[in-house]
Amino acid sequence: MDLALSKEDRAFAERMREFYTSEIPAELRERMARGEHPTREDVVSTQRTLNDHGLAVPHWPVEWGGQDWTPLQRHLWAEEMTLAHVPSPIVFNTAMIGPVIAQFGSQELKERFLPKTASAEIWWSQGFSEPNAGSDLASLKTTAVRDGDSYLVNGQKTWTTLAQYGDWIFNLVRTDPSAQKQRGISMLLIDMKSPGVAVRPIHLIDGGVEVNEVFFEDVRVPVDNLVGEENKGWTYAKFLLGNERTSNAGVGMIKTRIGRIKRLGGAHLDDPLLRARLTRLEIETTALEMSVLRVLAREASLPKGTPDPTSSVLKLKGSELQQDASELLVDVLGPAALAYREDTEVPDGFAPLPEGAVDALPTYFNWRKASIYAGSNEVQRGIIAKAILKL
Ligand SMILES: Cc1cc2nc3c(=O)[nH]c(=O)nc-3n(C[C@H](O)[C@H](O)[C@H](O)COP(=O)(O)OP(=O)(O)OC[C@H]3O[C@@H](n4cnc5c(N)ncnc54)[C@H](O)[C@@H]3O)c2cc1C
Repeated sequence: MDLALSKEDRAFAERMREFYTSEIPAELRERMARGEHPTREDVVSTQRTLNDHGLAVPHWPVEWGGQDWTPLQRHLWAEEMTLAHVPSPIVFNTAMIGPVIAQFGSQELKERFLPKTASAEIWWSQGFSEPNAGSDLASLKTTAVRDGDSYLVNGQKTWTTLAQYGDWIFNLVRTDPSAQKQRGISMLLIDMKSPGVAVRPIHLIDGGVEVNEVFFEDVRVPVDNLVGEENKGWTYAKFLLGNERTSNAGVGMIKTRIGRIKRLGGAHLDDPLLRARLTRLEIETTALEMSVLRVLAREASLPKGTPDPTSSVLKLKGSELQQDASELLVDVLGPAALAYREDTEVPDGFAPLPEGAVDALPTYFNWRKASIYAGSNEVQRGIIAKAILKL
């Protein structure tokens, strides 16, 4: 694939690799390579190091810590980070609320929040989805009623990723119930320590607690914490979701899992059917990577902020390949993959899992999410049918 990169871009990728492998502790990267989840402290300290070197928020405006890079360089920055097993910066900070505040927030809001968002002094959570508002997000019911200099917020969010770590949450709330549904929504920044905010964990089949329900009961939020204008929240939400673009293809994640399959597969990989699946996975991943590069090359020539429906193809295919890779790793490990919990006995006749395989089955379960979040795959197919195939 490197063949497609210019000499300068290859040198850029090499510089990133050199930084990640020399500045981010080897002990942390080895834990990540073994499949362990980073702790809150791991993520925060890594983001601080990246930010100190201008590498946490390269896609932000330069005056707020961004870099004047091409889309391809931003891609290489992220891919090399994954391949070096460096914990990613907090996506809610860097890819979601940061760019929204930089684009639509008042100067006061920018100064108050952007530096702390880049340095991970604040951990943000995303309060969009509700029990009856996921794909149809504009049906959301959480209300914010103006009361003097503040809003009173009541309602419930769900699937809130890592809300147990959250300091602040950017919430979509209904401020005008009489308006047509997209038109009555605002975006509010809420301190999660405010009285009336409660976080309840959702326990997942992989044994972890990655998502939560968040409840708001008469939570008082200063009017100053409104992003942009009242009832314009849908515009900001669309901008935020549009920024995800190519990032959900997850090429780096698929490649690291393929590497794991090859390292741990052993004699199982002599099986022609498993080999064929592995070969197809590698070919399709290479094709996906080329498509990501093609979309990025085109992005550079589009006016900034223009939605590119091709990113739906990348999200769709990327999530399918992530799931295929996680499934293949479980298959090559066989029944031994069941021994992922410390209290589970390895079935008779099977050696204990080699180091690095303990997360195979939990990750298989966990990556089912890839076809749901950031717009489910059915929704992506709808976009492709309409915007690309013109059906
Ligand atoms: C692991 C994980 C983390 C998440 N983190 C967050 C977070 O931090 N913050 C946040 O706000 N949200 C988060 N979400 C929520 C996520 O955005 C929603 O789950 C997603 O938008 C789907 O909504 P839903 O779960 O309500 O399903 P629904 O929208 O009810 O969909 C149910 C089924 O119907 C299908 N469907 C729905 N509409 C259509 C359509 N128009 N055409 C065809 N099929 C359709 C869907 O594909 C799906 O199969 C997370 C979700 C997951 C799984």
